[in-house]
Amino acid sequence: MDRILAACGNDCSACPRYTAHPYEKSEEELHRTAVLWMKIGYRDHIVSNEEISCSGCKPENWCRYHVVKCCAEKGIKACSSCLEYPCENIRECFEVTRSFEPKCREVCSDAEYALLKKAFFEKELNLLADQAVTYITGLFRDNAGGHDAEHTLRVYRYAMLIAEKEPECDRLTVTLAALLHDADDHKLFHTEDNENARRFLKGRVSSDQAEKICQCIDSVSFSRNRGKIPDTLEGKIVQDADRLDAMGAVGIARTFAYGGEHGRPLQDSVRHFHDKLLLLRDMMNTETAKQLAAKRHAFLEAFLNELDEEISR
Ligand SMILES: [Zn+2]
Repeated sequence: MDRILAACGNDCSACPRYTAHPYEKSEEELHRTAVLWMKIGYRDHIVSNEEISCSGCKPENWCRYHVVKCCAEKGIKACSSCLEYPCENIRECFEVTRSFEPKCREVCSDAEYALLKKAFFEKELNLLADQAVTYITGLFRDNAGGHDAEHTLRVYRYAMLIAEKEPECDRLTVTLAALLHDADDHKLFHTEDNENARRFLKGRVSSDQAEKICQCIDSVSFSRNRGKIPDTLEGKIVQDADRLDAMGAVGIARTFAYGGEHGRPLQDSVRHFHDKLLLLRDMMNTETAKQLAAKRHAFLEAFLNELDEEISR
């Protein structure tokens, strides 16, 4: 399921309290959450199911940091859009959240901890990702005629899906490398040395981290690294995510859209399936991507068979 970004960067979709459709919880699940909340020190007793259930932040809800109220007053949805970000207030919010993490790690099961981490402990990363989405959308709209923010967003989603199964990966690098991986695509932009990516990263992450992200981006490009496997797990994840988007129904749609735009005859687009798309399944790095790729590969083959039959009839 997609992330649901709260104003402070929490991801409501992972929160065991969140009950808005389609995240309804049973009475038993809510009670378990109330017990968990006491266990991790968020409450000093087991509260009622009514109190523990939540359908998302509202300005009238109590919040120690008044984040939702503050965003509502500014007419923005989340802190990521605020010109004053990161203000004192949100920094304190991050710090207090972080102070709960060691206890959660200690008293929670792995599954509980993973959920809480996704829901609460990645606030900053989620807000940063949100800023990157805005940056990328603007970059493609202004410089590339709308090409192709949607592809980038899909790659980001797949990368997050894969990263979830690779707990040892650096999620900050995966997130930003996925979102920025085409920000300096030479087909669309005339930039050198990841200029567009670096412009976003500057001041938002350390220079070492920015370097790591740019190296990850460099290791992903198909044209620059044909057949070469990235050295890092993060590079492998983003490369898989990028390649998945060239397969299956999306891959077919993208191939013909590109072919049409460049005035290519049908057969030229079909050749691209054999030259590139059908090779991708066996080039996946991670187990998750291999599974996803198998389904998409089968769809590509079925499509080509059908096309062949219709054309040669
Ligand atoms: Zn791409």
